[in-house]
Amino acid sequence: MPITLNPNREKSLLRRHPWIFAGAIHHVDETHASGSTVDLISSEGHFLARASYSPISQIRARVWTFIDEPVDKEFFRRKIQSAIALRNTQHVTRNTNAYRLIHAESDGIPGLIVDRYDDVLVLQSLTAGSEFWKETFADLLAEETGIQNIYERSDADVRELEGLKPIVGILRGTIPDSKITINEYNLKFNVDIQHGHKTGFYLDQRHNRHRVGEFAKDRDVLNCFCYTGGFSIHALANGAKSVLSVDSSADALALLEENIALNRVRVPAERHTSREGDVFQLLRKFRDENRSFDMIILDPPKFAPTAAHAEKASRAYKDINLLAFKLLRHVGMLFTYSCSGGIDAALFQKIVASAALDAGTDATIIEHLSQGSDHPVSLHFPEGAYLKGLVCVKG
Ligand code: SAH
Repeated sequence: MPITLNPNREKSLLRRHPWIFAGAIHHVDETHASGSTVDLISSEGHFLARASYSPISQIRARVWTFIDEPVDKEFFRRKIQSAIALRNTQHVTRNTNAYRLIHAESDGIPGLIVDRYDDVLVLQSLTAGSEFWKETFADLLAEETGIQNIYERSDADVRELEGLKPIVGILRGTIPDSKITINEYNLKFNVDIQHGHKTGFYLDQRHNRHRVGEFAKDRDVLNCFCYTGGFSIHALANGAKSVLSVDSSADALALLEENIALNRVRVPAERHTSREGDVFQLLRKFRDENRSFDMIILDPPKFAPTAAHAEKASRAYKDINLLAFKLLRHVGMLFTYSCSGGIDAALFQKIVASAALDAGTDATIIEHLSQGSDHPVSLHFPEGAYLKGLVCVKG
């Protein structure tokens, strides 16, 4: 039953990193079913960890526990209880009824994402291991949260690496026919959990949207990659002079218009314009037209899912940041983000610095931003810190 590692390949496990790559494995003494639980043993025969087995993934095993203990329903109940307790200590629900309840490796459950939208949970299973336990997770989530409605959005591309097909649909209870309306800092957003990106909304940017609101008063704002208008609505509700929202998705922009209408008491619709198009092209067009803004937000999709994409992605990040620096007025603010796992915070800052240099401008960082605290980062799994943000002021 156990999997034996090559000599000296136990080091990452001793540092409690939860991944074992195929190349670290010396010997598998039988054919394990996809997602089944296996023991990881050092070349000297010592127990190292108990893990889920992914037969076709390069990440061949992901650790459930470093202790010799049973991995069963009660084990996962304790993990889910800890994740809930962590959110309770953070008082996440003071500002919202939509937040991440389980953040995979960082909550000790590799492969499992669970987001809460009011009284519906959206579950995303990304690995063979989380797939193996999915029904148990659904039962436990219902038992521990009291929420009976669970929708599955296991349609992320990374499942392919695990040999898993996309699965979407109701796992437990019912879900509303219409979109779910959530609150975020007293603003409302309609979320389409069935067709929206990820599980429906970019929950990780919640406090960054709030931060934009705090600086938006009297500014002309350009929100690039706006999706359903999160940053735009926070800016408008907090006194922005104008907001121009750009996205290539017509569906996202349609939902943005709905969201503006939902917040009509606080959000003056006449100050807002949406524009469907490609940000790379539009920024160039705006530069050629000598347009300028007091605040620009750049929140692009993941250009570099892994380090292998870093070089090409770096060029794309530099391109949009350079153009943004050109379009900013003096003391204008740039909120710039990268959610790419393949680009770390130091590299991202270098890219933004070289963009400012090539734009011929000075700029100062006034804040470093990251994902919200409902997306925690295990100290032993630094990959969990995927969202980087800089607030720069043009000098
Ligand atoms: N800031 C948003 C999330 C942005 S997600 C929020 O807070 O909710 C990234 C968005 O970029 C998606 O909506 C996607 O449709 C859009 N997008 C991807 N490539 C694009 C491109 N080249 N030009 C314009 N929009 C693009």
